[in-house]
Amino acid sequence: MSNEANIDEATGDLTDGFHLLIDELKLNGIENIYHVPGIPVTDLGRMMQAEGMRVISFRHEQNAGNAAAIAGFLTKKPGVCLTVSAPGFLNGLTALAHATTNCWPMILISGSSEREVVDLMQGDYEEMDQLAIAKPLCKAAYRILHAQDIGIAVARAIRAAVSGRPGGVYLDIPGALLGQVMDAVEGAKSLVRVIDPAPAQIPSFDSVKRALDVIKGAKKPLIILGKGAAYAQADDAVRAFVETSGIPYLPMSMAKGLLPDTHEQSAGPARSLVLKESDVVVMVGARLNWLLSHGKGKQWGEPHSTKFVQIDIEPKEMDSNVEIVAPVVGDIESCLVALTNAMGKDWRIPPKDWTDAVREKKTANIERMAPTLQNNASPMNYAGALGAIKRVIDKRPDTMFVNEGANTLDFARSMVDMHRPRKRLDVGTWGVMGVGMGTAIAAAVETGLPVLAVEGDSAFGFSGMEIETICRYKLPICVVVFNNNGIYRGTDENRFGGDDPAPTVFVENARYDMMMEAFGGVGVHATNPDELHRAVSEALDSGKPTLINAAIDPKAGKESGNIGNLNPTGAAVNRSNAEALKIIKQKAAQ
Ligand code: ADP
Ligand code: MG
Repeated sequence: MSNEANIDEATGDLTDGFHLLIDELKLNGIENIYHVPGIPVTDLGRMMQAEGMRVISFRHEQNAGNAAAIAGFLTKKPGVCLTVSAPGFLNGLTALAHATTNCWPMILISGSSEREVVDLMQGDYEEMDQLAIAKPLCKAAYRILHAQDIGIAVARAIRAAVSGRPGGVYLDIPGALLGQVMDAVEGAKSLVRVIDPAPAQIPSFDSVKRALDVIKGAKKPLIILGKGAAYAQADDAVRAFVETSGIPYLPMSMAKGLLPDTHEQSAGPARSLVLKESDVVVMVGARLNWLLSHGKGKQWGEPHSTKFVQIDIEPKEMDSNVEIVAPVVGDIESCLVALTNAMGKDWRIPPKDWTDAVREKKTANIERMAPTLQNNASPMNYAGALGAIKRVIDKRPDTMFVNEGANTLDFARSMVDMHRPRKRLDVGTWGVMGVGMGTAIAAAVETGLPVLAVEGDSAFGFSGMEIETICRYKLPICVVVFNNNGIYRGTDENRFGGDDPAPTVFVENARYDMMMEAFGGVGVHATNPDELHRAVSEALDSGKPTLINAAIDPKAGKESGNIGNLNPTGAAVNRSNAEALKIIKQKAAQ
């Protein structure tokens, strides 16, 4: 036990805040720390490494935080991000809020300045009341003032992060705490091992029966699997429920691969049809938020008559957007096992005309798409480039696939099949840009598997400096930048005239691959799908940090990808201000 080791060290019979914090984290199986060094936590990072923890030192806290967030998703343990005070804390806080929004367990530990000075607002170095600022943006926030409280405080943070609906927790560590000393034997006794941090939550018998009665009455049932189901690591229970029920299923983005996208019950390629036509929908760890049009409107067919069954660990999620006729509150595994068992031997699979209609639509869409995925055009369009990526993933289903961007995200989600659970890591509930390199780094660190990150050139820019981190830690990450010279498209012009470029374009034909070479990684410039396929395959074989600059036709993308409708003016690419104003007026009149 490491804490015993520390007791025996030269310090004799004393221990300190540094070691108590390290021992408490290790006692609870936390081994990786995503970090940016600085006052007052520089020595803490060093000591963590000295005690055998894996300390990954980033260039910006937001990326370290995004790494911790996705580590939480992948492992069901809180990912830990360690930052300095005030600005470092604020940078990490974006990721903590992101983790909370996505229901992933994470702990942000930030050093803070001297309490007495901060509270009197006397102007300390990096003065900020971090605890108060963190509170509304995460699930729980605690401050530790005494070394003897470190054990219990970290235990609370772990339990708060992983139990019930998972989320982010903030732990405030005033610099003075780390240097506090106490008796080593008493210190060891103060440590807490968290027993059963995320207890099973068994659904009530009545709720299971009610849900099954609704499903039995369906003529056109559908299952929607969300990233909560992926997080739960209940893969066998998910498969048994889907296959025993015989119901077509739709995976949300990060639930892709829970069952292989090639599974015969997958309705992914028939998405519009199943959303519009289904009469009963079983939500499994997925929310009826903006990603599903809040469960209403045209997408769900008119007149609206869909009945929802929802399985979720969070009771407050029920009826959040539309009425849930059969709420099943509990953890995914317990709920799905109970439902599958209750189906019994005489379970009738859904009417054949429904499953046939879904299969026909799906086959037609796959056949229509196939030739475009094979095109070898140069400069590349999205289908050609993603066809190359798809063939790589089909051959190497264990690759961790990271994806962000606008068009790069939307097209990849539908064109690149996933074959294994928790392999697709993307922008999550907020649709946020900037998670890419943090996510890729944590994916490599937590799984040891090769990582392929397919990034829009704009999305890449938010975390691009971390390619130095990737090279420094020699991580097996291949980054592909879909370079179309800009945001959405690379063709926008300054409508006022003058020398400034339009706000949505970047330097033309930039060579992101040369950035990678600056840090000793491999850089490749790919101009057609064959070259791209070869370069990605070689990178994944070699495990060497690689960045491939994939030249995409600047005219190929759509404004805002698939969500142009969320712009006040709709998809406004190359539209004059007068035209935009007309659209705004029309909308207001509606
Ligand atoms: P998606 O974006 O894929 O639809 P969401 O993040 O919207 O997924 O939904 C995930 C849901 O899963 C959340 O409502 C969350 O409460 C729930 N959830 C997370 N972990 C579990 C679990 N172990 N058991 C049951 N529900 C869970
Ligand atoms: Mg772009």
